Amino acid sequence: MARLVMKFGGTSVGSVDRIKNVAAKVKREVEAGNQVAVVVSAMSGETNRLVDLCRQIDPVHDQREYDTVVASGEQVTTGLVSIALQALGVKARSWQGWQVPIRTNDMHGKARIEEIDGSAMIRDMEAGIVPVVAGFQGVGPNQRIATLGRGGSDTSAVALAAALKADRCDIYTDVDGVYTADPRIVKKARKLDKITYEEMLELASLGAKVLQTRSVEMAMNHRVRTQVLSSFADLPGTLVVDEDEIVEKQIVSGVTYSADEAKVTLIGVADRPGIAAGIFGPLSDAGINVDMIVQNISEDGKKTDLTFTMGRGDLDRAVQILEKQEKSLGWAKLVPDRNVVKVSVVGVGMRSHAGVAHIMFKALAEKNINILAITTSEIKVSVLISADYTELAVRALHTAFGLDAE
Ligand code: ADP
Ligand code: ASP
Ligand code: MG
Repeated sequence: MARLVMKFGGTSVGSVDRIKNVAAKVKREVEAGNQVAVVVSAMSGETNRLVDLCRQIDPVHDQREYDTVVASGEQVTTGLVSIALQALGVKARSWQGWQVPIRTNDMHGKARIEEIDGSAMIRDMEAGIVPVVAGFQGVGPNQRIATLGRGGSDTSAVALAAALKADRCDIYTDVDGVYTADPRIVKKARKLDKITYEEMLELASLGAKVLQTRSVEMAMNHRVRTQVLSSFADLPGTLVVDEDEIVEKQIVSGVTYSADEAKVTLIGVADRPGIAAGIFGPLSDAGINVDMIVQNISEDGKKTDLTFTMGRGDLDRAVQILEKQEKSLGWAKLVPDRNVVKVSVVGVGMRSHAGVAHIMFKALAEKNINILAITTSEIKVSVLISADYTELAVRALHTAFGLDAE
């Protein structure tokens, strides 16, 4: 007997038939003698609809009320899945975040889970009752509903698996595992049998939305055995594991991209000590994370150009803040640009292999794609390019690193 958490994403519960399919899958695990807890997302499209309703009424709304609205999508699914399980003769009950309780901090809209009391759920599971838990939501210190950020049901599932000391957390979704690139963009992408926590963390934070970044952090910290697999096909998925479980280490395991980027170039900035601090200090005070930074060498030692990137949603605010500094710091021109993406290659094999960046730059040059900025870490190389070349770049890199399926 194993204790399992089974999480089903939006597409997997997107219709009555699909909910019945979920119930049948859960029933099979229960009949195999396992203790099962289920975590569900809202039906596909529902969270977007709810977010949009808030925006239509007031674009700058109260985040606590936003949470009240958007958490309702998951509530509906917990009830429907419980009904579907009962209809198949499986005992089940729904749990909202506040009922478990899943305690979070008070960062409404992007709250973090702080503590989960799994005792009542364990009692139910031991009595053969399947808990069906709302993903994406918890309860804040103010006793109000809090949500975990988009894609947060993954994090609910992994956190619950840790709290219940589950043997595995299975994330059922609309693809049958983690691929070498988003299979919707790269037809030749290959499914990985295993991927390391570290690689999955980089891929998620660099744009692969198959798992929410925080869920991978959580899985890594609590060593939760996590599997990504299909809700529709009966196939083994991808296991996220420790590095020592992977025999053959690839130099690059995956290629990914993030469209949530924007860049600012300051042309003709004075090249003297204190300028960078003067520019980035106020941005950091405003909670704006600057990611890539490129400063040109000035020819005359007096003026230079400075380019940096941030989340696309922060661009307008960043420009506003910078404009206030213009008098004291001085530059010839400020050029904002939203039409950029960050494309990254990730792999633990990079640690012991030189030349990855070179292969990457060469592959992009062959397609005439200009690189606007570069960052590297131990297991990834990222480049910023024009958004017009996203798919071309991802495919070219996938081929260049030998990842294409036969
Ligand atoms: P769910 O609603 O089940 O949470 P998501 O839409 O959040 O599903 O995540 C699954 C999607 O992630 C896939 O449909 C796929 O397009 C996308 N994706 C991006 N990168 C990858 C990758 N490397 N491997 C698999 N899927 C990926
Ligand atoms: N329903 C939420 C979203 O669409 C959470 C999730 O699906 O993980 O972002
Ligand atoms: Mg998701």
